Amino acid sequence: MPHADFDIAIMGGGCAGLSIATRLASAGRNLCVIEPRTAYHDDRAWSFWRTAPDPFEDCVRATWQGWDIGGPSGIVHRESARLRYQSVSAGAFYDRAQSVISDHPDAQLLLGQSAHSVNRAGSIWEIGTQDDIITANHVIDARSPSRIPTYGQFFLGWEIQAQNAVFDPDRVQLMQFRKARSKGVDFVYILPFARDRALVEVTSFAPESLGQDIFKTWLETEITALDTGGFTILREESGALPMEVGYREPHYEGLIRMGLSGGAARPSTGYAFARIQAQADHVAHAFRRGTRPETNLDSAFTTFMDRVFLQVIQTIPERGPALFESLFRNAPEDRLERFLSGSTNPIDRLSVMTSLPTLPFLRAALAPA
Ligand SMILES: Cc1cc2nc3c(=O)[nH]c(=O)nc-3n(C[C@H](O)[C@H](O)[C@H](O)COP(=O)(O)OP(=O)(O)OC[C@H]3O[C@@H](n4cnc5c(N)ncnc54)[C@H](O)[C@@H]3O)c2cc1C
Repeated sequence: MPHADFDIAIMGGGCAGLSIATRLASAGRNLCVIEPRTAYHDDRAWSFWRTAPDPFEDCVRATWQGWDIGGPSGIVHRESARLRYQSVSAGAFYDRAQSVISDHPDAQLLLGQSAHSVNRAGSIWEIGTQDDIITANHVIDARSPSRIPTYGQFFLGWEIQAQNAVFDPDRVQLMQFRKARSKGVDFVYILPFARDRALVEVTSFAPESLGQDIFKTWLETEITALDTGGFTILREESGALPMEVGYREPHYEGLIRMGLSGGAARPSTGYAFARIQAQADHVAHAFRRGTRPETNLDSAFTTFMDRVFLQVIQTIPERGPALFESLFRNAPEDRLERFLSGSTNPIDRLSVMTSLPTLPFLRAALAPA
C-alpha cells in the first residue's frame, strides 16, 4: 500500500483551515496546511454573538452587551444579560493557530505554497503545488471560494483613530440603514473599540458590489458626518460574502469542504466565524471517531427560512430596513441573535418567524423555489 506524506492535508490556511488544524494538531494528528501567504497580517475582525466555546477565546479583542439598529421608524436598542457580541482579532487568531501548530511536531504549516490540483490516486490523494506533489490519506479543502456570489454581503470598512471622542464604546451600531445606493439593502456598521477608535463599515446586501470607488466615497461621507475632528486610518477591510442558499464549491467525492466554499456563511446574513468553529468541531469529532465528517450545518427547515428571508429582501429590497427593524424590535431577547449566529434550536427559529410581518413572508414562502 502506498505511504502518504501526511495523514491529513488541509488546503487553505485561513479561518477554516487554521480552525480545524488547531483542533487536529492539539489532538496529535499528523497533518499539513498548504497556504499561499508567506506571512499573516491582522487583515480582519471577526465579530459574532458568542453561543459556544472555541479554542480562540483568548483572541477576543472586545465584547459588548448592547447593539442598536437604526430603521425607518427609529432606533431599536437591544441588550442581553447573557449573550455577548464579541470581536476576534485576526492577527491574534493567526498567531495562536501558528503557535499550536509549531508546538506539535506532527503538524506543519507550509507557507508560500498553493494547491493547484487535487486528485485521487488509488487509496491516497495527490495535491499538486507549484513546487511539489504532496500526498495524504484525507484532504480538507478550505481554500477561498472560486466565484463571486450572485447575492451577497459587500462591504468596505476602516478602523479609524479619531481626534474627538465620538463613539459610544458600550454599544455596537449593528445596522444603521441608509437610502440604498445599491440594488439591495444598505447600512452602516460601527464597532467601537474606544471613544475615539472604531471600525466603521459601509455594507450592502445586494446582487452585486457597488465597487470600491462608490464604497470609498460613501464611507468618507459617513465618517465626516461623525464629526471626528480628523482621523487616521489604522486598517482597511473589504469583502464579498455569499448570501446564497446552497452556496458551495462543486462536490468532489471524499473531499471535505470547509469555510465559505463549504457553505459556512449563514445565507441570510453572511456571518461565518461561529459556523466555521461549529464545522471544525464536527470535523475534528468525526476524525476522532473515524467516521465521515459532515460539514453541512443546516436543517431543511433552517434552509427553508433562509430561502424565504432572502427571497423577500431580494424581491422587495426597499422594505428591507423595515423588515430588519421589525425583527429586532419584536424578537425576544437573545433568540434572534442566537438564530443569526446559526442556532438550530426550534424555539429560537419559531421566535424569529413570529417576529416577522406575515404577508410578504407568506407570499415568498408560497412562491416557487
Ligand atoms: C474583511 C472580512 C471581514 C469579515 N468579518 C466577519 C465577521 O465580522 N463575522 C463573521 O462571522 N464573518 C466575517 N467574515 C466572513 C468569514 O468569517 C471570513 O471570510 C472567513 O475568513 C472565512 O474563512 P475561510 O477559511 O472560508 O476563508 P479565508 O479565511 O479567506 O481562508 C481561505 C484561505 O485559502 C487560501 N487559498 C486561496 N487559494 C489557495 C490555494 N490555491 N491553495 C491553498 N490555499 C489557498 C487563502 O490564502 C486563505 O488563507 C469576514 C470576511 C472578511 C473578508
